[in-house]
Parts: sequence; structure tokens; C-alpha cells
Amino acid sequence: MSETTEKVKCLIIGSGPAGYTAAIYAARADLKPVVYEGLQPGGQLTITTEVDNFPGYPDGTLGTEMMEDFKKQAQRFGTEVRFGMITEVDFSERPFKLKADDGKTIIADTIIIATGASAKWLGMESESKYNGFGVSACATCDGFFYKGKDVAIVGGGDTAAEEATYLAKLCRKVYLIHRRDELRASKAMQKKVLETPNIEILWNHVPKEIVGKEEGFSKSVTGAILTNVKTGKDKKIDIDGFFVAIGHKPNSDLFKGKLEMDETAYLITAPNSTKTNVEGVYACGDIQDKTFRQAITAAGSGCMAAIEAERFLSST
Ligand code: NDP
Repeated sequence: MSETTEKVKCLIIGSGPAGYTAAIYAARADLKPVVYEGLQPGGQLTITTEVDNFPGYPDGTLGTEMMEDFKKQAQRFGTEVRFGMITEVDFSERPFKLKADDGKTIIADTIIIATGASAKWLGMESESKYNGFGVSACATCDGFFYKGKDVAIVGGGDTAAEEATYLAKLCRKVYLIHRRDELRASKAMQKKVLETPNIEILWNHVPKEIVGKEEGFSKSVTGAILTNVKTGKDKKIDIDGFFVAIGHKPNSDLFKGKLEMDETAYLITAPNSTKTNVEGVYACGDIQDKTFRQAITAAGSGCMAAIEAERFLSST
């Protein structure tokens, strides 16, 4: 075996609550797991602020701190955590063969996929033009730059509601732009939004264009044109920041044609299990869950994946 080829019992792809919980259990079962963290180490919780609904933190915690705690706990039992990406997978025979962007070829007896999901975009040309220059998909990461200013956020789910209330604490005014006349967010989040005086909900509106100005190499957002879907009329709002919170897409591109997925590209797992259609390959967390998508459910499925991997290895 060459220096760049290594054999592992359990390779974990992804480092959110699912990946790290799988690592804690796999390490304690002596599977000596190796985790490739992926593009966003710690996953989506690292781009949120406070987490108040994860049991065990009576006073809440920060997403970044919680993921650091998960990582340290996994490392305490011998998990090897690597900053990097898996770039190729071959599940045609066991042990499985994978390539990583650090040049390594990994021969793995079992694989646990915990690659999560990423933010969706609206798809307007002006959205890409001003991305990073006033357009963002993470209010908790970028809201700080709009202190005392007026901003807009698109979406009607829990993310949009949560981020709108977060932005309202920093900004002068927040427009919440929603395409329907009813929010999808939970009742508790809806109440928070409705009770926040500097949030104005623009019901039945969709963004048509983001407008801005260019000065030399610099660009900035100055407003947005919205269409009222009921009347067909356009209106312009003056804003400095435009946030998008319209849901997520599973990070499953690497597995296209290799594993069974549904029509929206979420990996399919067996009922009450993390087994994919390939024996020895397990999927946990948001990559296979479009219903609950919570840190606690992701962690629970990470635990299931490690136990299933361990049982599979003991039976072969
Ligand atoms: P959701 O899929 O729940 O909501 C997406 C929102 O964006 C919907 O209101 C949808 O409108 C709107 N939308 C989608 N596509 C477009 C588009 N092209 N143009 C305009 N609007 C669009 O995503 P979230 O990220 O809000 O939440 C995902 C999951 O995570 C949910 O299960 C949620 O409950 C959970 N979550 C929980 C939190 C918590 O418990 N603290 C915090 C954040 C998220 P429409 O309603 O018309 O479909």
C-alpha cells in the first residue's frame, strides 16, 4: 500500500452534529474513525448564533461553541479529524475506495455520510452580482455589517423568522418578504416576528431584482424591486442588505449515481435505520432528513449510523 493510501474501519464524511456524534460512538466502539470535515467545519450550526433547544444546555449555547464541544468529545476517544473534502467515491465493491483533496486514497470498511445541506438561492442575476456585497444567505454571519441600517430577508420558514428577529436587534428596519399570506414558521417564531416592532412583513411579495451601485471595484446594495403576486404590481424598497432564507439543498452531488436518492436529491435510508442501498454505507443528519432537520435529530441519527456500522463490521 502506497504512502498516500490508507485503510480505515470507518470513514465519516461531514462534521455537523450527525458526523461528530457518529464519531463519538464509532471511536468508543474502537472503530478508530477518521472524519473529513468538509467545506464548512462544524456544519450549519456554525453559521447560527444561539442554540436554545439542544438538551443539556439549560442557558443555551452558541452554535460554534457547541460544535467545538462535539469535536473535542469525538477527539477525546481517538477520532482523527481532518480539514478537507472527499472528492471521489467508489462504492462498487467493499472495502470502498475514496479520494480526498489532501491527495490521500482511503480504503474504508464502512462509510458514514453526514454531509448535511446548504442554503438555497433565488437564482436572480442581481443576487449573484451582489453576493458578498450586500447579499447574504446567513444573517447571523453578516448581520453585524448592517448595524443601524435597513435590510430585507426573504422566506417564511423558521430560518427567515429567526434571522429576521436577529436582524431586528441590530438593524433599524427589517422587511420580511414572503411569497404567501401566511408564514410557514412555527407558531412561537411567528409570534416573535409579529411582536417585533421594527419588522415589516411584506406579504405576497417576491423579489424581482436587487439594485445597487458600483464604485470602482466596490459594489453595494441600495434597494430591491419586489412584485406583489396578487396584483402584479412592482414596488421598490430602499435597503443596504438583502438576506435569503428560503431553505436548503442536500449536499449529495458526490453520491449521484452511486446511492439511491429522492427527487430532491436527499439520500434514501431504510425505515428506522441509517442504511443506504449499499451495504456498509450509512447516511445520517440533514443529508437524509428533510422533515426534522434539527441538531438533536441529526445527532440521534449519527449515533444510529455508528451503531449500525459497528454491528455490520462485527457480523462480517
Ligand atoms: P423551509 O423550507 O421551512 O422554509 C423555506 C421558506 O422559503 C418557505 O416559507 C418558502 O415559502 C420560502 N421559499 C422557498 N423557495 C422560495 C422562492 N424561490 N422564493 C421565495 N420564497 C421561497 O426552510 P427553513 O430554512 O426556514 O427551515 C428548514 C427546517 O429547519 C424547518 O423544518 C424548520 O422548522 C427548521 N428550523 C428550525 C429552527 C429552530 O427550531 N430553532 C430554526 C431554523 C430552521 P412557502 O412557505 O410558500 O413554501
